[in-house]
Amino acid sequence: MNPVPVVGRFAPSPTGDLHFGSLISAVGSFLEAKTQGGKWLLRVEDIDPPREVKGSASRIIDDLYRLGMEPDGPILYQSSRYAAYQASIDQLLKAGRAFACWCTRKDLPPSGVYQGTCRNGIRNGRKPRAIRLLVTQETCDFSDALQGNVSVSLTRDVGDFVIHRADGLYAYQLAVVVDDQFQGITQVVRGADLLDSTCRQLYLQKTLGFDSPAYMHLPLALSADGHKLSKRLQADPVKHHAPAVAVATALLFLGQNPPAGLALTPLWEWAIENWNSKLIPRSKPPSAAKV
Ligand code: GLU
Repeated sequence: MNPVPVVGRFAPSPTGDLHFGSLISAVGSFLEAKTQGGKWLLRVEDIDPPREVKGSASRIIDDLYRLGMEPDGPILYQSSRYAAYQASIDQLLKAGRAFACWCTRKDLPPSGVYQGTCRNGIRNGRKPRAIRLLVTQETCDFSDALQGNVSVSLTRDVGDFVIHRADGLYAYQLAVVVDDQFQGITQVVRGADLLDSTCRQLYLQKTLGFDSPAYMHLPLALSADGHKLSKRLQADPVKHHAPAVAVATALLFLGQNPPAGLALTPLWEWAIENWNSKLIPRSKPPSAAKV
């Protein structure tokens, strides 16, 4: 067993019902934690009320229980964490690691990469809009357990990024980092669509003096027309499928080979016994079936 207690997590945004793409992250993070004798926690990322679909948080939780994935601790709701996000922003502002920005979208260059316009407090008589993190580190390198070595030029491709949005909401990048630290997360297993965010999160962790978890980015489930299956694309909700079929399909997608026809309990027993992350394909396998 690992000397450091492993803590994994699943962190859905309540923007729709649980769909196959999210189920992959739930199953992958659950098995990576459980097979190392670790804990698996659940966090509802409800910090963007305009994007939220009413009732979807409780429907996602119900689905996870129905599928046999119960969290090893209380569910954390990001909507209850605003004071912690604000405290981190205040800490960064005080240390000169973040600054108020007056720019509108129109002030950004076509690349979308912020050029440091407000770093020195140019106000132009406008009201401050967002808070950005000062990015001074040239590059970010990390090793993803599945995708291998990743290297990103922070100064060229990322720039000073938003941690408190102009509409008053806390940015996903900030909330996820503050809460991964708060929940003691040691490994993040999630979809490869978030690979791009990881360097921002690693940089924020370093700036705030936090530990960094290990990362594993899973292949994305794609619909027949090549789009990522997402809640926004109204992918077929998992709730329409028998639990053992949904879990078995997720396992197959993740490169595992469960015996056909197992009921839910023996299927999980098989999965915990036989989970092998080396079998996970890096990208979508050709035969990936839709639940
Ligand atoms: N809440 C994000 C989503 O549902 C996932 C965040 C994460 O795993 O870091 O896409």
